[in-house]
Formats: sequence, C-alpha cells, structure tokens
Amino acid sequence: MKPCEFVAIINIAIKGNGIIAREYIRGGEVILSFFGKPISRKNVKNPNAVLQLDEDVFLESDGTADESLNHSCNPNCYIDFKQLNLMAMKDIQKGQELTFDYNTSEYDLIDQGCSFTCFCGSEDCVGDIKGFKYLPLSHKKRIESFLSPFLKKKWKEEF
Ligand SMILES: [Zn+2]
Repeated sequence: MKPCEFVAIINIAIKGNGIIAREYIRGGEVILSFFGKPISRKNVKNPNAVLQLDEDVFLESDGTADESLNHSCNPNCYIDFKQLNLMAMKDIQKGQELTFDYNTSEYDLIDQGCSFTCFCGSEDCVGDIKGFKYLPLSHKKRIESFLSPFLKKKWKEEF
C-alpha cells in the first residue's frame, strides 16, 4: 500500500501509529491500493504487517502506510479483495482515523502469533481479536459481505 493524498500517518494513544483522512472521503471511494508480493507464511518477516489472501498466501506490507492501518470492530473502510484496494465504507470526515476489520481478512491470528486486544470502543467490539475463526456467529454474519474470498471459502467448510 502506498501513501496517497488522502491519508496521513499519526501516533494515536494506546494504538501506536494510525492512519487518518487528510480530507473528506466519500463512501465508496478508493483510498489506497495494497501492493507487495504474495508470499507464504514461512517467508513473512513481520506477522503484524500482513494481509491474508489464502491459506498460505500473505501480502506483506512494503513498509509504507498499511503497517499503520488499525483494526476496528465497527470500521469505516473495507478491502476490495479483487482489486486489493482499501475502500471507504461510508463518508469519512477529515481527521477521522481509517480502520478496517482484521477479521474480514485473517482467519487465525492466534496461529499467526499476533492476536491482540481491541480498543476500538465500538458497541460491537468483540474484545480479543483472534481472527475470523473465533468470532461468534452473529458477528460473522454481520461482516459477511466484506469477507475475503478465502474466508468465505473457510466459512463454508465450517458447516
Ligand atoms: Zn473492537
């Protein structure tokens, strides 16, 4: 993911770095594109900076803005997995933090060694972020339309 005119990286209390909107962003707009080469897990250098695309296919950050893109259980962005773009889910005001739901891309963060406690503060916060596998069914249903093709496939296998 490359930085663009839409975003700035800032330091946010508790969370560390985050990305904020530098200007008003309309819902549905492309904010950023993810770049990088898909690699297998054994070649991942920083497990905190990857996007899971398949069972053993990860897109590792090229060291620019996406390392700073934080999780929220009630996010304002989602990922278009076909184009690998970060999209605005709704209108976003200048200065608001940009977030997406890590549970829409990562299946098992415990297995990846990078589960964490969420501080998003939203009503729907699931608390410990451990990956899609561990979500309650109600939350899985709520985020269904934003899931990666890989997670949709995994979910089907659960039944
Ligand atoms: Zn949360």
